[in-house]
Amino acid sequence: MEAMEAPAKSTAAAKTRAEFLRAELERHNRLYYVDARPEISDREFDRLLRELQDLETAHPELATPDSPTQRVGGAPLAGFRPVKHAVPMMSLDNTYSIEEMREFDARVRKALGVESVDYVLEPKVDGVSISLRYENGGLAVAATRGDGKTGDNVTANARTIRSIPLRIPTDAPVFEARGEVYLGTADFIALNAMRAQDGEPSFANPRNATAGSLKQLDPKVVAARPLAAVLYATGELVGAEFETQADVLRGLKKLGFPTAKLWWECRGIDEVIEHVDELDIRKDELGYDIDGVVVKVNRLAYWRQLGATAKAPRFAMAYKYAHKQAQTVLKAITLQVGRTGVLTPVAELEPVELAGSTIARATLHNEDEIKRKDIRVGDTVVIEKAGEVIPAVVAVVPEKRPAKTQPFDLFAHAGGRCPACGGEIARDPEAAAWRCENLGCPAQIRGRIEHFVSRKAMDVEGFGEAIVAALTSETKVATTTDDGLFGAQTEERILPPLVRDVADLYALKPDDVELRRPNRVADAKKAEMKLATKLCAAIAASKNNELWRLIHGLGIPNVGEGLARTLAQELGSLDALMAADAETLAKVRDVGAIVAQSVREFFGNARNRAVVEKLRKAGVRFDRVETAAAGASPDGYFFGKRVVLTGTLANFTREQAQDELRQRGAAVVGTVGKTTQVVVAGAEAGSKLDKARALGIPVLEEAEFLAKLAE
Ligand code: AMP
Ligand code: ZN
Repeated sequence: MEAMEAPAKSTAAAKTRAEFLRAELERHNRLYYVDARPEISDREFDRLLRELQDLETAHPELATPDSPTQRVGGAPLAGFRPVKHAVPMMSLDNTYSIEEMREFDARVRKALGVESVDYVLEPKVDGVSISLRYENGGLAVAATRGDGKTGDNVTANARTIRSIPLRIPTDAPVFEARGEVYLGTADFIALNAMRAQDGEPSFANPRNATAGSLKQLDPKVVAARPLAAVLYATGELVGAEFETQADVLRGLKKLGFPTAKLWWECRGIDEVIEHVDELDIRKDELGYDIDGVVVKVNRLAYWRQLGATAKAPRFAMAYKYAHKQAQTVLKAITLQVGRTGVLTPVAELEPVELAGSTIARATLHNEDEIKRKDIRVGDTVVIEKAGEVIPAVVAVVPEKRPAKTQPFDLFAHAGGRCPACGGEIARDPEAAAWRCENLGCPAQIRGRIEHFVSRKAMDVEGFGEAIVAALTSETKVATTTDDGLFGAQTEERILPPLVRDVADLYALKPDDVELRRPNRVADAKKAEMKLATKLCAAIAASKNNELWRLIHGLGIPNVGEGLARTLAQELGSLDALMAADAETLAKVRDVGAIVAQSVREFFGNARNRAVVEKLRKAGVRFDRVETAAAGASPDGYFFGKRVVLTGTLANFTREQAQDELRQRGAAVVGTVGKTTQVVVAGAEAGSKLDKARALGIPVLEEAEFLAKLAE
């Protein structure tokens, strides 16, 4: 038996074996708890752990505080010793208002004297904050926040948390990682169920359960609780440096720390606000409770410039989700027709106050949802507003249902006809939706034009809903004629719609636009003409847009902005996209069978092809692709990093390596400095490599470089 032989092993052999086992156990631990892809069975893991325990018992001089054997929990503590934080752990200013987020952005920009600031948006984890101090790579101290200056030493307890690495692969003498300890949603429910069985009181919420567990004096009890951690910041660093918050998150992940699954680098506050809603919708993917988001200025140099108040930093802000509900009466259900022809049911409500605004309309999602919740006209309903998401009807109050209501049936409700054009409607089995079948439906045309000119598509300035409506439908206008004989005469005329598809926009003349301008002031012709001319100029300018904008603007089903960028980058022109067969499309990153089919169907349609040809005739460019990093994935290892190449690579010339890096969004720079983030070292690398080592910059050898490129 191996364990029996252990005492006989020479100390040197035992030491080597113990080191091997520690590294191996930590690797498997990480695969299991952080990466969620275990390579060995639990039994195999336990066998390795037992072997290490036996070795440490036989050779007590080999036991170390960062050994995985410590994860089961050491002896009970008498109390927690205080720990002074080298860098204070601050609180955050917070708000429930998007308006105040914009004010925060305005303050930041003003203080920095810049026009736009990049931010990182992260989940605000509802746990207990912790600071993990690694000295020479080993976990030395874990501390709670306490009053921000001094916290409690909870190292023995933190060691039992499996997702916290006991060692990290860094040369930095001091590396403090900060984040939250939490209990996952499912684990919290299971823990409470167990406590109920044992006749113990249940915890009010995961946060309380986490705080209670961390403050246990017996680490063995803590070890039995399925606590987890997520890291998002650094404290004191010696021999390590980061340039941006995004680098911090990527760097932590690379060192083996668990980091948030969802976070975004955002250009400006508008992008932040978009993702605020996205995160609210997707927060279940995280597996733990969040109470909002945290917005942080991305560049750390700006952090130093902005500083902090006594309580909170000026470079970050928390936005908390306010899930507020109210009750009101559903007066009617109307149907809205979108650009794809889908009929969306909308609740017309008795106006009611909710989270600071008056709500008169709310979304009902689709017919299936209405049926599932059995929502009927006349019902008293519960509406909810989550963040900045459009308010939604979430339930009915059955006790308040009046007599003689009817279950909702969309087809009957619409009389079988599109409310916008009177065309026939048909059920789309895949989308759980009813659609207007008429491609010439003015509501659909309007929707398509609005999408085409929108900011994330062709980005034509000066368009609003009203002018789009005026251009796509018949317009009644008063014109004044003065033939000199009878004096000025005012006449009402009906003008035909000018725009039936997106290509018609490029044929618009300032005169036509001027006539149709909403709320047009007939005797301010000069000012009106000026605006109309400006709009036409903006339309003309969009002919030179980058290809992804055009692809996105066409409104191909299932092709959003991100995919449009990828398709543009990888195919290079609209003609190539039109000609692409299923096989070619399948090779494009992120393109699956559904997208490939929708692209093929879209261009297989003669009407769509005719629109494309009209766009070509109008002079819209089909092939403008920015080569730099436009298509690089922000999740890639090299994205946004400053990389230095040194030495000779066997598989690449210097130029090829540079190209590969640039395509992935890296900035290739010539000299190694404090801001360098990665050094790629080929054979016979010289002083640059020495310098990188001295500065603690991660170095990739050719094999690792190849692996990272392939990721
Ligand atoms: P509050 O306790 O409301 O003042 O919020 C500040 C606390 O939010 C911080 O001290 C952290 O413990 C916690 N927090 C949770 N997630 C994050 C995050 N992604 N970034 C920064 N702080 C976070
Ligand atoms: Zn219609």
